[in-house]
Amino acid sequence: MQPWQIGVFASVDAGLGVHLDVAQELGIPTVQVHAPHQQTRTQAAADAFLARTKAAAITVTCVFGGFDGESYADIPTTARTVGLVPEESRAARVQEMKEISDFAKLLGCEAVGLHIGFVPPDRASAGYKSLIETTRGLLDHVGANGQRLHLETGQESADHLLEFIHDVERSNLFINFDPANMILYGTGNPIEALKKVGHLVRSVHCKDATWAAADKRGKEWGCEVALGEGDVGMDTYLRTLKEVGYQGPLTIEREIAHDRERQKRDIGMAVGLLQRLKAQLL
Ligand code: MG
Repeated sequence: MQPWQIGVFASVDAGLGVHLDVAQELGIPTVQVHAPHQQTRTQAAADAFLARTKAAAITVTCVFGGFDGESYADIPTTARTVGLVPEESRAARVQEMKEISDFAKLLGCEAVGLHIGFVPPDRASAGYKSLIETTRGLLDHVGANGQRLHLETGQESADHLLEFIHDVERSNLFINFDPANMILYGTGNPIEALKKVGHLVRSVHCKDATWAAADKRGKEWGCEVALGEGDVGMDTYLRTLKEVGYQGPLTIEREIAHDRERQKRDIGMAVGLLQRLKAQLL
């Protein structure tokens, strides 16, 4: 695959992300997709989706898992409900993530991704250790499917993410780097974070955001904005991706599926911005 192919976050049937026909109209060659609901994680659904992507000359680069009961309403709710960290839903979600990995295999896709949740800060705690065990079990399943697992950034600092990946001790655990999330969650300067974790980044989101007020960072959301209009600094972001040797797709994430016209306009502008920067940097 060519380096830095433009991509968008789309959906098989979950109604999230960019509509596939919008991606096709914009001539975008790659997508990451939200996994479909359980009843449609079938061979027939995979074949139908692959027929659509093939007709549109689109390659699926990563399948993201998400779960019922997750809410990003505010940061405390996100911490309580998202990913594999909440213990009451963990067993069911790990099972579901394994099924999503199986579905991704049907799509011929070698990477699955997820928000694992807020990794407990104390490496000696029982909660941290049990999350390590859970993650290993998932990675072994994902590995048996010939796949990598990419952890979405944002909920941990770069340093703690590195500690966690180190402690899991599996060779198929990598990072989906999202610079806007570092800002939205208030977990650190995204460029500094990327320099630290760059060697483990295998996919990225091109998303932008503005910081919450200094006294509210980490407590209240920053604000997601159109690419190039936030605090990430797309020029610096792409320069840093080049510095750390990243060659994978540049996947635009803009989750306003309810407003198709605005989505198409924002994505179109984002594609233009990334193509200009690519032409300067590659
Ligand atoms: Mg993201």
